[in-house]
Amino acid sequence: MNIHEYQAKELLAKFGVGIPAGHAALTVEEAVEAAKKLPGPLYVVKAQIHAGGRGKGKFKELGPDAKGGVRLAKTLDDVKKDAEEMLGNTLVTVQTGDAGKQVNRLYVTDGVDIAEEYYLSMLVDRATGRVALIVSTEGGMDIEEVAHSTPEKITTITIDPAEGFMPHHGRAVAFALKLDGDLNKQAQKLSKQLYEAFMALDCEMLEINPLVETKPDSSGAANLLVLDTKMSFDGNALFRHKDVAALRDETEEDPAEVEASEYDLAYIKLDGNIGCMVNGAGLAMATMDIIKLNGAFPANFLDVGGGATTEKVTAAFKIILSDPAVEGILVNIFGGIMKCDIIADGIVAAAKEVNLSVPLVVRLEGTNVEKGKEILANSGLPIVPADDLGDAAKKIVAQVKEAA
Ligand code: GDP
Ligand code: MG
Repeated sequence: MNIHEYQAKELLAKFGVGIPAGHAALTVEEAVEAAKKLPGPLYVVKAQIHAGGRGKGKFKELGPDAKGGVRLAKTLDDVKKDAEEMLGNTLVTVQTGDAGKQVNRLYVTDGVDIAEEYYLSMLVDRATGRVALIVSTEGGMDIEEVAHSTPEKITTITIDPAEGFMPHHGRAVAFALKLDGDLNKQAQKLSKQLYEAFMALDCEMLEINPLVETKPDSSGAANLLVLDTKMSFDGNALFRHKDVAALRDETEEDPAEVEASEYDLAYIKLDGNIGCMVNGAGLAMATMDIIKLNGAFPANFLDVGGGATTEKVTAAFKIILSDPAVEGILVNIFGGIMKCDIIADGIVAAAKEVNLSVPLVVRLEGTNVEKGKEILANSGLPIVPADDLGDAAKKIVAQVKEAA
């Protein structure tokens, strides 16, 4: 699950991390009120969408010469104008795809006088089974490009979960960022706070780009501040973070995926034309593979889970069919705990309810399979039965070709 920048910063602040002051706003008036609470004279008006690259992004409605989704404003009037231009309009960035995302929230922050921009991120590295801390002196810009053309400018530090964050990890971060004196100490402290936040909140990924060093103030003191952050969480751990789960913004997510999560279905939309309904993630992966092996592409990943009820199967059918690209459906269910005859009843009821308009191939295996097949055969619906996975994939690909 992803959250907005302002939410991530509020969470990080609770761990002592330095962030610029700021307030979220849903309307132009709120944006101006937010700015009034800040010291000025520089404000930053930031579009809140679940995608990066906002600064260089373009608003669909405003043409190529308009400013992007992160704007520096020098007066309250400018804050107002920027808020008016941004709210309700569609921001297209390298991460949103061509459709872009409508901006419904803004974050108005205190403008920072930047001396340097750095990069810092943390993620769960599956290869090592550890949290990897990635830092670079080249912050603010496209980190993928830095990794590609100057990989020596990126340092990766892995943290053993049993050992936890040790002082040497902090020193390695400060050294990689080439920081001295007080800033060196700040980098050590900050990286420890970020690791603590990452672990305590069960994050999947935490990216700070840029992490900035401020210009020295009148007393000569400079600070490290988190200027931009992206944070995502392990969905399987959300049950123990009700406060984090409450930050979910469904308007940022694919509507079909939101609908699927309401029925506890694991659904991910893909680009192909064959919808799949499967129980178990492993079987779902194998089904997608075998569809590809037969020369077609899956339209989705869908795992209905162990307890596939009629209600769930109906919801799954509706979600699959809501995708206009779907030209055929392959149901591949292994009846273990849930018996095949119950599943067959569910499929028949669901197919009738949704007025199935595309070919449907069903492969059932497991407990009460004969009873299940009988129900499908006697349903009066044009359901094509299949004996095994290979047979099922062949049949659905052939049916879709025939219908085309
Ligand atoms: P992103 O484009 O979605 O990654 O949004 P960021 O929050 O990273 O902002 C993009 C860029 O805007 C940053 O890399 C900075 O260069 C600039 N920026 C953001 N906030 C400030 C600020 O407070 N002061 C100044 N001077 N520049 C800022
Ligand atoms: Mg950024």
